[in-house]
Amino acid sequence: MTTNEIVVVGGGVSGLTTGVVLLEAGLPVRLVAEEIPGRTSLAAGAMWGPYLVEPWAKVRQWSLTSLDVFRRLAEDGSTGVRMVSGVEAARHPVETPPWSELLPEFRDADSSELPDGFVGGHRFAVPLVDMPVYLDYLRRRFIALGGEIEQRSVRSFDEFANASAVVNCSGTGAAALAGDAELRPIRGQHVVVENPGITEFFSEDTGLSPDLVCFYPHGDTVVLGGSAIDGEGDLSDDPGTAKEIVERCAAIEPRFADARVVEHRVGARPTRSEVRVEADRRQDDVLVIHNYGHGGAGVTLSWGCAEEVARLLSTELPPSAD
Ligand SMILES: Cc1cc2nc3c(=O)[nH]c(=O)nc-3n(C[C@H](O)[C@H](O)[C@H](O)COP(=O)(O)OP(=O)(O)OC[C@H]3O[C@@H](n4cnc5c(N)ncnc54)[C@H](O)[C@@H]3O)c2cc1C
Repeated sequence: MTTNEIVVVGGGVSGLTTGVVLLEAGLPVRLVAEEIPGRTSLAAGAMWGPYLVEPWAKVRQWSLTSLDVFRRLAEDGSTGVRMVSGVEAARHPVETPPWSELLPEFRDADSSELPDGFVGGHRFAVPLVDMPVYLDYLRRRFIALGGEIEQRSVRSFDEFANASAVVNCSGTGAAALAGDAELRPIRGQHVVVENPGITEFFSEDTGLSPDLVCFYPHGDTVVLGGSAIDGEGDLSDDPGTAKEIVERCAAIEPRFADARVVEHRVGARPTRSEVRVEADRRQDDVLVIHNYGHGGAGVTLSWGCAEEVARLLSTELPPSAD
């Protein structure tokens, strides 16, 4: 390891995006992670949407930064990112979400656009991200920029005492690595089916229910969701939950009833009261920049948070000698 190396711990969407941003800023980066890509990142739907994450002022800026990047990535079919139109609806009257002002095409849905039994909703176009394709794109971009990857478990940040800084993108792993008792997993499950001809996304505002309803088309496949079990971090897929997910989605779009299931995906949303992106000069003098706790919006926040990490590093690190 070179003395001015930046070590990124974590190979999910946060770690890979941060690695790319730091390499593009001219810093030497080594990414160390147990799983590459991170399993939770692979399991995401994934739709751009700053849902249920705080603090809003920062989340707004991070989401906006990512939105701009994803719009550009959607112009390249190999990235797995697409701009897709669709409807978010509810069986109760809905309020306009604060992030609507970030989307120029956002409007109330006509009643003809709502499924039976729904009373309100919105139509908008957002980036949808096919996560296996996108994470592979990020990994290739990271390597092409000269980034190094080491696949292993990290027990403590002091393993990197020689590095200039460690960026902690360990998702739920931060509970142990950073000793963060506030961080908790929210388990989520998705079912991936062959696409029976769906071109628009749908998402139901189910409030605090653990049973979610959403579907996200990604070309040949559609990701059906979902679930949100607070406090559960078990990542094995549950056949009963999968069956209910398909049934709930088929009640909205009957073509899903006979769609062939190709995969089950399970992840644990790393959740805390506020996303943690901050510098932490520890007693052992290792500089740690935390970037975790993105809950159900880690894809949405990824580029904005990565740029914030780059800003924090440029403030915290002494200027280089050359
Ligand atoms: C079902 C589901 C649906 C979702 N839908 C969306 C969506 O539509 N839009 C959206 O924006 N977000 C969505 N999310 C949230 C999003 O997936 C997460 O916020 C995001 O993936 C978190 O990424 P991460 O890189 O921080 O963590 P992870 O992907 O969990 O990656 C953590 C990385 O750290 C590594 N690691 C952890 N501990 C250690 C250690 N001790 N040593 C070495 N390596 C370690 C892991 O191996 C892994 O590589 C969804 C999540 C789920 C589960």
